[in-house]
Amino acid sequence: MEFLPLFFSLKQRSVLIVGGGEVALRKARLLTKAGASINVVSPQVRDDLKELVKSSKGLLLEEQYQSTSLSGVMLVVAATDDQAVNKKVYDDAQAQNLPVNVVDQPDLCSFIFPAIVDRSPVIAAVSSGGSSPVLARLLRAKLETMIPATYGRLATLAEKYRQNVKDQFSQINQRRGFWEKILSGAVADLVFAGKDSEAEKLLQDELSSAEPIQRELGEVYLVGAGPGDPDLLTFKALRLMQQADVVLFDRLVSQPILDLCRRDAHFVDVGKARSDHTVPQDGINQLLVKYAQKGHRVLRLKGGDPFIFGRGGEEIEELSDAGVPFQVVPGITAAAGCSSYAGIPLTHRDHAQSVRFVTGHLKDNSANLPWSELAFPNQTIVFYMGLMGLPVICRELIAHGMEGSTPIALVQKGTRPEQKVVIATLETMVETLKQNPVSAPTLIIVGQVVTLHDRLKWFQPGEDDLVK
Ligand code: SAH
Repeated sequence: MEFLPLFFSLKQRSVLIVGGGEVALRKARLLTKAGASINVVSPQVRDDLKELVKSSKGLLLEEQYQSTSLSGVMLVVAATDDQAVNKKVYDDAQAQNLPVNVVDQPDLCSFIFPAIVDRSPVIAAVSSGGSSPVLARLLRAKLETMIPATYGRLATLAEKYRQNVKDQFSQINQRRGFWEKILSGAVADLVFAGKDSEAEKLLQDELSSAEPIQRELGEVYLVGAGPGDPDLLTFKALRLMQQADVVLFDRLVSQPILDLCRRDAHFVDVGKARSDHTVPQDGINQLLVKYAQKGHRVLRLKGGDPFIFGRGGEEIEELSDAGVPFQVVPGITAAAGCSSYAGIPLTHRDHAQSVRFVTGHLKDNSANLPWSELAFPNQTIVFYMGLMGLPVICRELIAHGMEGSTPIALVQKGTRPEQKVVIATLETMVETLKQNPVSAPTLIIVGQVVTLHDRLKWFQPGEDDLVK
């Protein structure tokens, strides 16, 4: 281990920054966040840095650095662009056993600044030991996604009850068990859901009951997994995916997304083929209720957004009737994902002032859609589940007044490495697909906006795959 991670208390302690420019300012801002008093020595000092020195009750020394500048400080940071000065600061600080950091010069640092995730009072720090600050920042970005923004509130709540818990449980094992339950269970869930007072109440109940309350009723998380690229998940989706005990997922949910769920969860594939439902909808609804009533945290993971052609409404109606608590997490719907990744804006001032999302799943393959409402100028139509009905869709739109030359795009497996975009017109699409077959899931976009694809396409599925 090159460096030992420590968390320093700097409240009202003096820190010396040598340098008066932008880098010095950045470090000063960070240090004042930790309550330090900032001394700055430099012949020239930016005004905003001067302000900071003043508000932190530090000393402003508008002069050349000299060894005496170090007196009375606890840490030293050199942020000048003069190598000789930086080296001198380092040598002087070392001679006095003062921790010193020369910005961007790992060989002149006895301490380094980690990349941090600030969920005060919780702080996560990452360091690459100075070998690659960019790598440390990338890792920090991963942590940012894993630690909910509300984590700090959970820690504050825990702090408030720390003494009470100590008083109640004399044994450290008991305390640890209690806190594990609180911080990874229903109390934490309530804080993350923004219900702080309910969380506090539950914590008090748990604390006052001699036998800790067992979770009798579980909860269902109805979560939108987006169109396939795992980077399009929301933070909230990821967090719930990682804590659920049971996962019920659809065929549309991509494997890289399933891989992000808690590894030891119980996975149930309720995938739906187009007309051969693996588990019928009623069965899914009942399964959700059954698992939740056993006390499990159940993740119902659906492709795209649960409320857009996802039957999410039906599932939570049943939960509501059964008195099972639930949360709904929106996801990026296929129309948004596919249009972005295909470079086809769904609205555009010159081409379309409105957009309609329509099911292309035609009952008995008959043309049972309000075609005259759809065949409308300056409007984009997005058909979900439209591949089988494509010949009917093209035919009926033309029959109801749309030009045969209207552009149409078919996006196969949008946002995924296998994304493919086929462009044609209402007249030619059926023939084009014979030469250029596609596989489900596919999304159909009809309207003038499709012409923008040529100029705006940016996503290179193959290359993207390589980068990842
Ligand atoms: N709730 C989902 C839609 C479910 S209906 C959502 O909000 O996206 C299923 C249809 O969604 C598929 O037939 C297809 O038309 C579309 N779809 C879902 N994911 C897709 C993807 N990655 N690429 C293309 N179409 C997709």
